[in-house]
Amino acid sequence: MATLAAEGLTFTALPLASPTSDEARAAVLANPGFGTHFTDHMVVIEWSEGEGWHDAVIGPRQPIALDPAAAVLHYAQEIFEGLKAYKQADGTISLFRPEANAARFNASARRLAMPELPESLFIAAIEELVKADAGWIPSAEGASLYLRPFMIATEAFLGVRPAKQYKFIVIASPAGNYFKSGAPAVSIWVSDYTRAAPGGTGAAKCGGNYAASLVPQAEALARGHDQVVFLDAAEHKWIEELGGMNLYFVFDDGTLVTPPLSGTILPGITRDSLLALARDEGLTVREERYSLDQWRDDATSGKLIETFACGTAAVVTAVGRVVGRDGEFTVGSGGPGQLTGKLKARLVAIQRGEAPDPHGWVRKIA
Ligand SMILES: *Cc1c(COP(=O)(O)O)cnc(C)c1O
Repeated sequence: MATLAAEGLTFTALPLASPTSDEARAAVLANPGFGTHFTDHMVVIEWSEGEGWHDAVIGPRQPIALDPAAAVLHYAQEIFEGLKAYKQADGTISLFRPEANAARFNASARRLAMPELPESLFIAAIEELVKADAGWIPSAEGASLYLRPFMIATEAFLGVRPAKQYKFIVIASPAGNYFKSGAPAVSIWVSDYTRAAPGGTGAAKCGGNYAASLVPQAEALARGHDQVVFLDAAEHKWIEELGGMNLYFVFDDGTLVTPPLSGTILPGITRDSLLALARDEGLTVREERYSLDQWRDDATSGKLIETFACGTAAVVTAVGRVVGRDGEFTVGSGGPGQLTGKLKARLVAIQRGEAPDPHGWVRKIA
């Protein structure tokens, strides 16, 4: 069986040898957690120099065979995306701004010297997988099907240059609430490490950035915090972002500040969506640098009333406490603030089809 997808490619459907039983799937969906359970299917599309994108397959999720010399294993030529499929109140399934993920995937591909994937093919692959695994979308509040498209360099070659063979793969994982405890506000540790330097890969969604963030994140956890916040590499002064989430600062005059897309932070789609929603509300949002010293002073004086982090996985999370080598401070009441809650509710309502979608962000899957 094959269905025409996009760019003249058709997906070959391979049968499942042993699909998950309804009982086992129901048990997973009752308590999905994050990133530990996976659906039955995956999509794989091959790329090689000369042939371009070819051999699109949707089939059983299973291990992939790689030559031990595959470039991804040695030089980390890898990029990924993260987005969610939601079950709407009316039973239909929707994606949130998948075109933005497709565009960012290609921006990451360019930075990592990898081939770009036509946006229509990126979206077709995701829709193919969501349709095949539609029974895996949890319907509880805050739950969704987390989709993980990624690309790896598969060519067996130890010389240092862009590989000539790649695989694009999409897998899916039912997701509950990202923060296990459902914590109302997180505590963050100001890292001495830097995540990204000017001219580096900070704006690309690549595995290498995450590999470099594991020690700082582990340090934050060991000190009893939930997350790490990174400062800029040059002056170690300006706030950049958390390990995998962008930041917003809320002031007592109702204005918001978020760090600008300087090339060293990841251009989050949640960040961009909140920028638009806040402006829809008539709020003033400035994309401008904000220093750790100013953050501490403003939190202490009461000028800064809320801080929140945002990203696809956890959506919007309040930051209650900030601790670093030079001291610590509490933001607002130390719990989630009003505007944080309001913006989160606005975004979630659009994502779930419970509110009008004035920006055309929701894409229904037929
Ligand atoms: C993915 C990611 C984000 C958030 O991006 P969204 O598109 O909102 O999910 C923020 N920072 C980093 C480092 C990321 O990898």
